[in-house]
Amino acid sequence: MKDAFTITAMRDIKIGEEITADYAIWEADENYISKWECNCGSAFCRQRVTGKDWRLPELQARYKNHFSPLINKRINKLNY
Ligand SMILES: [Zn+2]
Repeated sequence: MKDAFTITAMRDIKIGEEITADYAIWEADENYISKWECNCGSAFCRQRVTGKDWRLPELQARYKNHFSPLINKRINKLNY
């Protein structure tokens, strides 16, 4: 995320390409667990979205400094 409201692409997007976004970058309610299963088709898909996904070390590495500002702050507090 570029800021609290703006999502940016991590790579170039081809014309007509379907785009997806990982809820982990903005879902900050730690009690949230999706009632639906994700079918995005990504090799990284976790099927179930939760408000604690941002805590996963592999996601913190993948989206470093690109979470929502609130989650970036939470991660920075954990790491210092
Ligand atoms: Zn998915």
